[in-house]
Amino acid sequence: MQVTRMQPQPQRPRRGSPGPLGRRISRRRLAALACVTALTFTASTSAGTGRLSPGATTAGAGPIALSRTSAHGPCMIRAAREVQMSEGIPTSDGYSRSTGTVRALTLMIDFSDAPGEGKALDRFREFFPQTRQWFRTSSYGRLDYRPETPIPAWLRMPRSFREYGIERGAPFDPGYRALVQDIVAAADPEVDFRRYDLLNVLVTPNAGPSALDTVLSVTFAGNPEAPRADGVPVANASFVYSRQDDGSGSYGRTGYRVLPHENGHVFGLPDLYTAEGGGAVGHWDIMSEDWGANNDFLGWHKWKLGWLDASQVHCAASPGTTEYTLTPLARAGGPKLVVVPLNGRTGYAVELRTRAGNDESVCRPGVLIYKVDAAVDTGMGPVTVYDSRHDSGGCTRAPNVHAELSDAPFRAGETFRDARRGIVIGVVGAVGADGGVRVRVTRE
Ligand SMILES: [Zn+2]
Repeated sequence: MQVTRMQPQPQRPRRGSPGPLGRRISRRRLAALACVTALTFTASTSAGTGRLSPGATTAGAGPIALSRTSAHGPCMIRAAREVQMSEGIPTSDGYSRSTGTVRALTLMIDFSDAPGEGKALDRFREFFPQTRQWFRTSSYGRLDYRPETPIPAWLRMPRSFREYGIERGAPFDPGYRALVQDIVAAADPEVDFRRYDLLNVLVTPNAGPSALDTVLSVTFAGNPEAPRADGVPVANASFVYSRQDDGSGSYGRTGYRVLPHENGHVFGLPDLYTAEGGGAVGHWDIMSEDWGANNDFLGWHKWKLGWLDASQVHCAASPGTTEYTLTPLARAGGPKLVVVPLNGRTGYAVELRTRAGNDESVCRPGVLIYKVDAAVDTGMGPVTVYDSRHDSGGCTRAPNVHAELSDAPFRAGETFRDARRGIVIGVVGAVGADGGVRVRVTRE
């Protein structure tokens, strides 16, 4: 893969008043930039075997065990080279694999100017076992995520938090590089880094500002130029900072969800929120909104991550009219996704969303239709959900859930049209007793 240097982007002005949402948007944009920055390191080195194998340079088929047949060819939309982290399929090399047993080295760190309060394992328990269960549910059991804590105490960093100079949007160099080097040095006597697929760094929550002012959590993914440990680069690492309760009432149950979001990046997924917030995808994917009620991944992400079989994904590439059955995305088994390719870079995706599994806030079950654009980079809006009810205000008032798109799904008798391309996607109606639906795709 080509190494592309990305120029720092000007910060877009913050929208609206600095209420909780405004702050959140602001920090998320900065986090997105950090994700992008990390990806400037993406190059030929591969963690394609899942393990951070020493000096691996195998191109291989990539880390993601994508299930496909030749019939899926037209739906394998690809990223442009200049896109750092894309929705393209298959996922490029260098990220952690996302199927089978994945070992997540999880370290809790603190600093002289931010000493850990309470037990380090209590910090760990803010995220586990929930994160493990979240991935098990979303992947239909295909991702066996195993967090391991070979050092169950706070790992004290040799410098103060201030000295690392980490703020929101901080690039990998020099602050994070120094931090990772110090983490490696401190942990190495007790940790064999070759045993792990990814690194979680759970920073003591009193380091840095409150999450309600600035959220620092960030992931550096696909970064073979990261400091090495036991001969392997620490290429895929998620850092989680403060996650203070915003008073919305859901924090106790859902505050852990920043970690599945950050780990989504180590598996190669881009951010779906933009500088304007969650208005592109709403609460339909945890890469869009990871606060508030639990939510799942889009079907596109599940295919990309290797959690759907080829038989569960239909590629609607031929002219004419074809009907397809969809079963609820949250439930294992059955057809899940119809992809209507537009060209080599974009396509429509169609799936059935219901309130089940990780999707706990769905207030209008139905057929979700969205556009995937592999030419659009992380944080710039690579996915756009189509709203079947424009300007309705949505059907939810749940805190931290983008309301307008909450009633986006199409129902029986409703139709999505792309007149310019001659594409019509209609919901025919319910089928069977298992909650499935029938959709009809017409292409000129
Ligand atoms: Zn992110």
